[in-house]
Amino acid sequence: MKTEFSLAQLADPDIAEADKILRACVHCGFCTATCPTYVLLGDELDSPRGRIYLIKEMLEKDKPPTAEVVKHIDRCLSCLACMTTCPSGVNYMHLVDQARVRIERDYSRPLTERALRAILAFVLPRPKLFRASMIMARLGRPFAGLLPTPKTAATPGLSRRIKAMLALAPKRLPAPGPSDGSVFPAVGEKRGRVALLQGCAQQVLAPRINQAAISLLTRHGIEVVLVKDEQCCGALTHHLGQDGDALARARGNITVWKKEVEQGGLDAILITASGCGTVIKDYGFMLREDRDFAEGAAQISALAKDITEFLSGIALAPSSQKGDVTVAYHSACSLQHGQKITGLPKELLSKNGFVVKDVPESHLCCGSAGTYNILQPDIASRLRDRKIANIATVKPDMIAAGNIGCMVQIAGGTSVPVVHTIELLDWATGGPKPGLTGPGLN
Ligand code: SF4
Ligand code: SF4
Repeated sequence: MKTEFSLAQLADPDIAEADKILRACVHCGFCTATCPTYVLLGDELDSPRGRIYLIKEMLEKDKPPTAEVVKHIDRCLSCLACMTTCPSGVNYMHLVDQARVRIERDYSRPLTERALRAILAFVLPRPKLFRASMIMARLGRPFAGLLPTPKTAATPGLSRRIKAMLALAPKRLPAPGPSDGSVFPAVGEKRGRVALLQGCAQQVLAPRINQAAISLLTRHGIEVVLVKDEQCCGALTHHLGQDGDALARARGNITVWKKEVEQGGLDAILITASGCGTVIKDYGFMLREDRDFAEGAAQISALAKDITEFLSGIALAPSSQKGDVTVAYHSACSLQHGQKITGLPKELLSKNGFVVKDVPESHLCCGSAGTYNILQPDIASRLRDRKIANIATVKPDMIAAGNIGCMVQIAGGTSVPVVHTIELLDWATGGPKPGLTGPGLN
């Protein structure tokens, strides 16, 4: 694609990067076929190619985007299916990330929308506040029906979004998991030492996921540390275009993780929420221009691993056959498209005795996508219903996923238990049977 940036614009490293990405696009349109919003809405401007043109124009003109441009960029899930499909290697992720930052900086959203985004950005990364808000939402849930039901609009209104938020609140919250700073020694001979990302929403909604990871890892000789003063990885605010907050969190985490590497040694930083993993693996890029943090960021990104990547390198010890349990494996977009981890979780489940079924249209997002299911509830619900209908065709006993956002989204529309891949692996290797009630959500 031909671009028309001035030399002065190209002096900005972000614009130079955008220019490189845009020039790689040959506008073939292959990506449209696998884009969930294009599949649902059929509008070229809701396809990757359409959005690439909109972003190109916004950046070249260097003027505040119009409401129309913002509408189509906001509808993008950042699912990255387009990156998997693209034959030219267009890095849509870095392009849309930049577009979101531009929109946040240059576009004035309506007051209610700004307020909602500010609340989400403030509450979600703070587990204590998030926990309190979930309790309040649970109390407010019975009153959701009193909110007005607006007609379907191009941009959903506040009451529709509040309803979506209330619907996502769990009926009960599990007790909090272990606090940061905890160290879980290896059982038997020590074979390694890892940090386990605590996550923010996950530690409130389903602390059992990391408990299963700790139980499995320590049983296999791996010491696990929950690093003190670790914070949200920054993914939530990064996807809202609030990069000041996201980068500050990245720098904070790099500092405490590097200290842990120096003091206790770490073989890896393990992540059980793939949405977080994709962003931590991108810290190196996000901070490439930061003289003080670029090197540390690259080092941390190299240490970051999805838990299934790490487990594939150690011999797991299955203790019982689970051949009668059929598992539908839901491939989270952040894992399959963001991190290109596709076969590994399924192989681990199969090797450890489960009957694993692929879900038809597995490349399509379930509609969770960070805060997307709150900000774009109508598209998100359609994607969830489509995902659940696809899952139902394989008649599973359980649904496994590697990302809490997907687990919450899918569990909200099915009675089939939704569990994390690590819970099944822990069970198969001597841990307890997973709760089988969804991630503490139903
Ligand atoms: S598939 Fe790749 S090259 Fe083709 S239009 Fe989409 S982004 Fe551009
Ligand atoms: S990230 Fe997903 S929703 Fe956005 S353009 Fe790409 S495929 Fe479509």
